[in-house]
Amino acid sequence: MNLIKHWSPVIDKFHAKLSKWKSKTLSFGSRLTLVQSVLGNLPTYFLSLFVAPQGVIGKLESIRRQFLWGNSGDKKKIHWVAWDIVTASKEAGGLGVGMIKSLNISLMVKWWWRLRTGASTIWVAVIKGIHNLNSKPDDYYANNRLPGTWKNIVGVCKELRKKNIASEDILCKRTNSAGESWTCRLTSDGIFAVNALRKIWDRSLPISERKFEWIREITVKVVCFIWRAWLGKIPTKLALVKRGVSVGDIKCSLCDEWEEDSDHVLVGCEYATEVLSWIFKWCGVMMPPIRTVVDLLDFANNWSNNQSKRRLLLGICYGVLGTPPAKCANIIQSTLFLWMKNRKENSNMVWHNWCSNPFSCL
Ligand SMILES: [Zn+2]
Repeated sequence: MNLIKHWSPVIDKFHAKLSKWKSKTLSFGSRLTLVQSVLGNLPTYFLSLFVAPQGVIGKLESIRRQFLWGNSGDKKKIHWVAWDIVTASKEAGGLGVGMIKSLNISLMVKWWWRLRTGASTIWVAVIKGIHNLNSKPDDYYANNRLPGTWKNIVGVCKELRKKNIASEDILCKRTNSAGESWTCRLTSDGIFAVNALRKIWDRSLPISERKFEWIREITVKVVCFIWRAWLGKIPTKLALVKRGVSVGDIKCSLCDEWEEDSDHVLVGCEYATEVLSWIFKWCGVMMPPIRTVVDLLDFANNWSNNQSKRRLLLGICYGVLGTPPAKCANIIQSTLFLWMKNRKENSNMVWHNWCSNPFSCL
């Protein structure tokens, strides 16, 4: 399985699932959902038994990357956000896509867990028998003269060491009067989870000191847009010029006065400010001085100690930022009502109350 040609069924599956015609017709949020769900049974089977060569990982990541950014044929689209940020966990500020490499390694490490916790199964007895595991002090041992799946699985130790992750950081052995037991150090319940190891393998450092919150009542498409605006990675005129795209005049399309960057067009422009002040008045919240998208999200994030109120104001801000600037505030108000009413659990919101004050619907 060291040759790329052995992995062609997996590469073909990726191609088939993320066919190019789909990428042109879908929103960024929908493409994100597809990229996250591309791993079907066959790729997962391969990735759980064999360490994929770097060339294969690179090819699979490239297919996902091209699809997410809407590349089709020879027409290349701008990849606005670096792939290591896209793949980082949501806790670290990414989109939580996860790297294929981290999935591959974590699925293989899961066999270590199965071996240690599945004492009475036949395959455990066979592996322990042929690799002499019962008499070896090293828990991650494979008989080098026996090439095969278990040798591959144990070989993952080397990959983990390259990332400064020791096997003892993942699983640890406890011995007490009842005998020997194993626990996973990455999870609160002590049971190994593939995603817990992936989060450590993928970018573990936060992308920003600030936290980006995902609000489930707001559509994925809009939250993805806000996430990009939060990073300053949306296709404003200034951002396009910086990436070598000719747009002619870089002044704001709305006011025709200031340079069009994400902060100006979404919060700084007089048209955006007017909509924001209407929204804040409707919410009964004093509008703070806001110059940037981050200012607005910081304010909403820290506005109240009441979790429900805080998240509702943040959701309303997402709704405002995610609506095209030319739309009037009443449309934002009614769109938010539909989202909150239909996507919130146990919601019995009433339009009249929502219009008088959104917090009365909590
Ligand atoms: Zn403007």
